[in-house]
Amino acid sequence: MSAARNVHQMGVAELSTALAEKKLSSVEAAQDLLARARTHAGLGAYLAFNEAATLAQAQAADARLAAGERTPLLGVPIAHKDIFVTRDFPTTAGSKMLESYQSPFDATVVQRLAQQGAVSLGKLNCDEFAMGSGTDNSAYAPAHNPWDVSRVPGGSSGGSAAAVAAGLVPAATGTDTGGSIRQPASFCGITGIKPTYGRCSRYGMVAFASSLDQAGPMARSAQDCAALLTAMAGPDIDRDSTSLDHPAEDYSAALLQARAGASAAQPLKGLRIGLPQEFFGAGCAPDVLAAVHAALAEYQKLGASLVEISLPRTELSIPVYYVIAPAEASSNLSRFDGVKFGHRAAQYDDLTDMYKKSRSEAFGPEVQRRIMIGTYVLSHGYYDAYYLQAQRIRRLIAQDFQQAFTQCDMIAGPVAPTVAWKIGEKSEDPLANYLADIYTLSTSLAGLPGMSVPAGFGAGNMPVGLQLVGNYFREAELLQTAHAFQKATDWHLKTPEGF
Ligand code: GLN
Repeated sequence: MSAARNVHQMGVAELSTALAEKKLSSVEAAQDLLARARTHAGLGAYLAFNEAATLAQAQAADARLAAGERTPLLGVPIAHKDIFVTRDFPTTAGSKMLESYQSPFDATVVQRLAQQGAVSLGKLNCDEFAMGSGTDNSAYAPAHNPWDVSRVPGGSSGGSAAAVAAGLVPAATGTDTGGSIRQPASFCGITGIKPTYGRCSRYGMVAFASSLDQAGPMARSAQDCAALLTAMAGPDIDRDSTSLDHPAEDYSAALLQARAGASAAQPLKGLRIGLPQEFFGAGCAPDVLAAVHAALAEYQKLGASLVEISLPRTELSIPVYYVIAPAEASSNLSRFDGVKFGHRAAQYDDLTDMYKKSRSEAFGPEVQRRIMIGTYVLSHGYYDAYYLQAQRIRRLIAQDFQQAFTQCDMIAGPVAPTVAWKIGEKSEDPLANYLADIYTLSTSLAGLPGMSVPAGFGAGNMPVGLQLVGNYFREAELLQTAHAFQKATDWHLKTPEGF
C-alpha cells in the first residue's frame, strides 16, 4: 500500500514500515518533505532549515537501517517547535531577541528523538516565547491555518500544527504552558498531547513559565503521538530539577493492550468520561458543542459512559494563569539583557540605558506586556494580593480535578470555545486572546495530562478537537482512548484541500 502513497500522506507508523521494508530511504523522505515545505513556504510554518544537517541525519539513519536496526522512529522525519534549542539549527523562540542565537547543545527532548533515529527537518514557527494563541505573535511572520489560510493555526505551537496538517512533516514537537499543544492541534485538525507536568524534560526548552511549561508531540494520530512520546518522556533529573523520577513507558505498546473487561466492539467499556458542566455552557460556540457532542456519542458507542461533573473554579483559571505565567515569564526573561543573552542595542548611554533599549527593541508588544504584568504582581506590596492569592487558587483548581476524578476516569470537553479565528481578528485585543484559553488553562495549572483529538468540523468547515484530560501519569490511557476513537472514525485522516 505504501508504495502507491506519497511521502507526505504517510504518518509516522506507515513511514517507519516503508523505511524498514526499504521501499523508501530516509534521505528520500527528507528531501521530498523539504521540497514540499519550500513549495508551501507561504504557510509560515517553518522558521529555519539546514538541509545539509538534515541530510546528514538521514544518511546516518539509512546506515542504521541498512545494518538491520529497527526502531519506531528510525529515519522518520520530524520537526521541532523553535522553542527547543538545537545544535543543527538556529533557535529564535519566535523572537527578534534571539535572532542570531545558535545553541551549543540540543534540548533533552531533541536529543532523545535524535537518538531514536528521528530526522529533524527544521524549526517551526511559534508565538514569541510561546506567548499567544494564534502564532500571530511570532516576530517573523504569522503562520497560516492550512484549512483556511486567512485564519490562525492556533498557538503558540501553530507552526507545528500547520506543518503536520499540511503534510509538510508527519509529526512535530510542541510545548504547552496553557494550551499551546492542544489548541493548535484542535484548530488544525490534528492530534496532540501535553503530558503530565515534569514527564518530559524542560532542559533546553526556552523557558516561558517554568511551573507550567511542558513538551509533547503533535501528529495526525494518537498512534503517532504515542511513538514520539515514548522517545520524549522520562526522567532527566540531573538536568531538570522538576523532571519527574518516573520510569519511561512504552506508549505504543500500551495502545495494543485491551482495557480490562473490554471487547472488540466496545473497546472503551467501563471507561467513565466526566463532562464538566462549566465546559458546556453558553460560552462555547454552538458549532463546537455540536461536534463535541457527536464525538461523545461515538465514545458511548465504543462502550464509555458519560457522567456530569463540575470543575467549579474553571472561570478563575484565566486570572490565575495570567498572574502566574507572566510572573514566571518576567523572571525567566530577565536573562535576555543584551549581555548574557540576546540582542544588544547599537547605541546607548550607560548600562541601564543599554538594558532598556535592547529589551525595548527586541521584545514584541505581548512579551513586554507580560513582563510588566509579571513584574507588577511580584513587586513588594502586591505579591500577597496577586501572586500568592493566585497560587492559593491554583491549589484549589488542582483539588477540584481530584474531586472530579472520584467520579470519572477521564474528563472530556471542547479544547477552545470557537474554531480558529481570522488572522488579525484578535491581534489588537489581548483579553480576547486570553479568554479563548478558558478550557485549557486549568489542566495546565493542575499539571495534568491533556490531549486534543480531531472530532469533526464547525463553522467555516474548520476542524474541532475534543479535549481529553486524565489524572497524573495517565498518558497511556488517554492515548488508548483516542486510538480507539480513531479506529472507529476518520476525522484525523481528513486533509485540507490544496495540501
Ligand atoms: N495562550 C496561552 C498564553 O498565551 C498559552 C500559551 C502556551 O501554552 N504556551 O499564554
